[in-house]
Amino acid sequence: MLFDTGVLLNVRIQLGVILAVFFAYCIKKLLFKTETGKWKSPFAEDSRTPLTPLIIDHAKRDETMKRAFTKKLANEKKWDAIVIGSGIGGLSTAALLSKAGLKVLVLEKHYKCGGACHTFRENGYEFDVGIHYVGNFIRPTLTRTLLEQISDGQIKFAKFDNNVERLMLDVMSPSRREYTISSGPDAFENQLIKQFPDEVQGIKEFFRLLKRAYNPRGTMAWFAVKLLPLWFVDVLRFFGLPRLLSDFYALGERSVKEVIESHIKNKDLQILLSYSTVGFIVPPSRISFPMMSLLHVHCCEYGSCYPIGGASEMPYRIVPVIERSGGRVLMKANVSQILTEGGKVIGVRVGNKENLMVDIHAPIVISDAGMHNTLLDLLPKSEAEKSSAWPLTKTIRPSVGNLSVFVGLRGTTEELGLTAQNIWVHAGSNLEKMFAESLVKPLPELLAKPYPALLLSSSAAKDPSWKNRYPDRSTLTILSFAPYSEFTQWSGLPTKKRGDDYNTLKNAIGQHIVDEVTTLFPKLKNAIDYVNVGSPVTIEHYLSTREGGSYNMEHDITRFGPEQAALLRPESGIKGLYFTGQDVTSCGFAACLYSGFLCASVVLKKRYLLLWELFNLHRKLYGLPEGRNDLFF
Ligand SMILES: Cc1cc2nc3c(=O)[nH]c(=O)nc-3n(C[C@H](O)[C@H](O)[C@H](O)COP(=O)(O)OP(=O)(O)OC[C@H]3O[C@@H](n4cnc5c(N)ncnc54)[C@H](O)[C@@H]3O)c2cc1C
Repeated sequence: MLFDTGVLLNVRIQLGVILAVFFAYCIKKLLFKTETGKWKSPFAEDSRTPLTPLIIDHAKRDETMKRAFTKKLANEKKWDAIVIGSGIGGLSTAALLSKAGLKVLVLEKHYKCGGACHTFRENGYEFDVGIHYVGNFIRPTLTRTLLEQISDGQIKFAKFDNNVERLMLDVMSPSRREYTISSGPDAFENQLIKQFPDEVQGIKEFFRLLKRAYNPRGTMAWFAVKLLPLWFVDVLRFFGLPRLLSDFYALGERSVKEVIESHIKNKDLQILLSYSTVGFIVPPSRISFPMMSLLHVHCCEYGSCYPIGGASEMPYRIVPVIERSGGRVLMKANVSQILTEGGKVIGVRVGNKENLMVDIHAPIVISDAGMHNTLLDLLPKSEAEKSSAWPLTKTIRPSVGNLSVFVGLRGTTEELGLTAQNIWVHAGSNLEKMFAESLVKPLPELLAKPYPALLLSSSAAKDPSWKNRYPDRSTLTILSFAPYSEFTQWSGLPTKKRGDDYNTLKNAIGQHIVDEVTTLFPKLKNAIDYVNVGSPVTIEHYLSTREGGSYNMEHDITRFGPEQAALLRPESGIKGLYFTGQDVTSCGFAACLYSGFLCASVVLKKRYLLLWELFNLHRKLYGLPEGRNDLFF
């Protein structure tokens, strides 16, 4: 006999088998909790369609991008779910749920769809608001497959120059210097080894740690705690398992500054390895090393990209997927309240004036409006306090106020020397000092010197379709930050009605920054045709971010530890209410795309099964990922 049946009579073995089966059942329930058959898989079939030409007729685009809210349209059917906000987090959730068979209504406050992905036109120029570069969407990764499947495969990207970024330090001083950052596997590391031969060991150790942190298992662990029941995460945390099992959490308590300073001595090299944290608007001492590593691998290791046709291609191509399944995306729909009954969410109220208020009912409400806004403004306090995310509204601050200068230029990008790169311009060369001083200094003091930090981006140079759409014209967007406190007196006032003092201040900032930029790039000086400034109250008005911050909640180091990462989850803890968008994951197009994915996983009660379904479709379309990084980046 091959198998001794006597073994089965051993009570300990019997108990062991029963426990193992029970354990496997619990794990399956936890990880793949699913109501099979209720909704179809959004990834059941490949929904890419042959590429169609760009629609450049603005009136035609506006039919989709500016469809306004009416009571009739909002109540035309019984909705399965309502999404508040049409940012990429809201749209990706809505598209995945629509593909699963739900009828979804998306309500957007602004007159244009897309949240930070929207673009605006003025004086014959088109400007991006919140997408200046994204990671590599040319490589066939899961991230690209996810985007393809919610946009019919219609969004295409152009790659940046291989010298993906330029960093300029001490720009107005005689010691001004400049570095380029090259993209491609290990290209930046190799470049630095050549440039700083005395620091070879430190550079190698830094990149070794970087690779440990951006390992796909790290990203999985970051997302995993957002889908597990909170009690289970608490058990894992009690035994210290997140840090033991994942490098993302093991390295998560170390700041970028700490890691760099423990391996690198040269000051310029330190700044070269940490300047990207300025994108999070947090100093290197307060940004988690793994978060910076994700940004690095996503945008530098494989090269940054830009959506052909501009950032508004994202919403423009996703909305039809939602509407094809019976959904609607309506603009000028300011949700003033989330309606609850008996501790359950039952719908939303649009409008805030008695005669203009419309109540719309649905058993599921998903908020892309940010956790602060949702819990502090849209729910009664007695209900909001029940949310597991409630404590975070006190402990996580809003991100720093945004400042954008939009410049329209006569001439082509070649004539003006504009390139498909990001250019980071720093008045000094000490990031900690720069943040410590500039975030507390009054604006007049900031304007007395070169502005502390600027990011220059030209969509005209990054987008191959630009020349055809805007011949002989170019644009430059200059991004920075400014203290919200300097603008609070104009908070809540509509654009163009904030009065002369506001305009004077705004114009002074614009002039100051433009003067600095044209000193550095003299070819631009005589080509300037249009300048406009977006202040923190502009972004507060158009994106409803708290205190005019660029990204809703601040990206401080603790936010990416297992405790806060778990609380920043799609489930709100209030029945029927879910979160999506940058507070669930992080700022950035790709991170928000995944916030929608995580939210849909929970709403569809699929949890990790949805990742499996996406992976399976990806495998069918492109085969198994070749390298481990091909999974996400
Ligand atoms: C200036 C700037 C530059 C950036 N640059 C880049 C970049 O180059 N690359 C990159 O990857 N990321 C960039 N980001 C970050 C990225 O754009 C965002 O993280 C991301 O797009 C946010 O998506 P979201 O879904 O969270 O929300 P958002 O895009 O902020 O959308 C939220 C939407 O909700 C709506 N809303 C809020 N309250 C209500 C309400 N009560 N009723 C109805 N609607 C409501 C808002 O109007 C808004 O449209 C940038 C952001 C900014 C602001």
